[in-house]
Amino acid sequence: MTDRATMKCVLVEAPHSMRIDERPVPRPTQGQVRVRVHFAGICGSDLHIYHGDHPYVEFPRVIGHEFAGVIDAVGSGVPQSRIGERVAVTPVISCGDCTSCRAGRPNVCLNLKVVGVHVEGGFAEYCCVPEALACALPAGVDDRSAATVEPFSIAANMLSRTGVSADDCALVYGAGPIGMTVVQALKGVHGVAPLIVADRLDDRLDRARSAGADMVINVDRTPLDETLARHGLAPTLIIDAACHPAILEQAMRIAAPAARIGLMGFGATPSAVSQQILNRKELTICASRLNNLKFPEVIEWMRRGQINPAQFISHTFAAQRVQEAFDLLETDPTACSKVLLDFTAA
Ligand SMILES: [Zn+2]
Ligand SMILES: [Zn+2]
Repeated sequence: MTDRATMKCVLVEAPHSMRIDERPVPRPTQGQVRVRVHFAGICGSDLHIYHGDHPYVEFPRVIGHEFAGVIDAVGSGVPQSRIGERVAVTPVISCGDCTSCRAGRPNVCLNLKVVGVHVEGGFAEYCCVPEALACALPAGVDDRSAATVEPFSIAANMLSRTGVSADDCALVYGAGPIGMTVVQALKGVHGVAPLIVADRLDDRLDRARSAGADMVINVDRTPLDETLARHGLAPTLIIDAACHPAILEQAMRIAAPAARIGLMGFGATPSAVSQQILNRKELTICASRLNNLKFPEVIEWMRRGQINPAQFISHTFAAQRVQEAFDLLETDPTACSKVLLDFTAA
């Protein structure tokens, strides 16, 4: 346990106002563990919070919901034996009692709280969370990889909603960070072939190819539908990780009958849906939010080497340089995949 009185954390005080704050080290209350954070990942939704266009956040807020470290203190009711455990923290706090929770869907709990959004997050040297959120890591999963369990859990949840079979012809729209976790899971875990990835940026498509994509299509140069038709391909599984409202309409058009379409976006702009196409092909459209207890599964993928977090992580910044890291993500997104903050020396 630390004898330090204060810690550093990343505070968003108001839209466009972010700084390193010095605060008392939090004490774990009943049922909580305190995590000494080692590495934390920056998510697109953190950028939305910074810009003030995140629908749920309240300011001021210590942000960060992708993080891992080691338990250094526990509150009452938590076994002392957990101190020293290396953990990745899932950000989903559910009530356990509402209709969603009782239906086995705690990630859409009616009283849902997300760490780093509704409560103080993991861009801090120390963060207290309910014990159940801290998932033990095996020795084979290193500290940086551990900070990417959360983004991979987004892919795991989406694919558990759509289902995946090795016979699927899969198409992923978007080879940004979210798309890349899906590509790695489809290839490394499920062995899907063919796996097709569509994007507008060659750098991202190169990354998708090295992660195992069998075919990459730059949709600015070649229309997607023509390319698929020319190769006689009709996707049976489509994941939209590019999240433009026009994609759903195209996806439904190019999908094979009985295909599943997974949507990962959070935009408020409606998409056009033809009931004729939907029902003629009997398509399934799947939504997915956060993760439903997927951390153990993703940690196992990492332990077995089925996914490659090192390929996913493009940059690591010392936590003090958080503004620089945000600026890089905004000004040069094609150069970035997952950007981590290092809190070990904060
Ligand atoms: Zn995230
Ligand atoms: Zn609930």
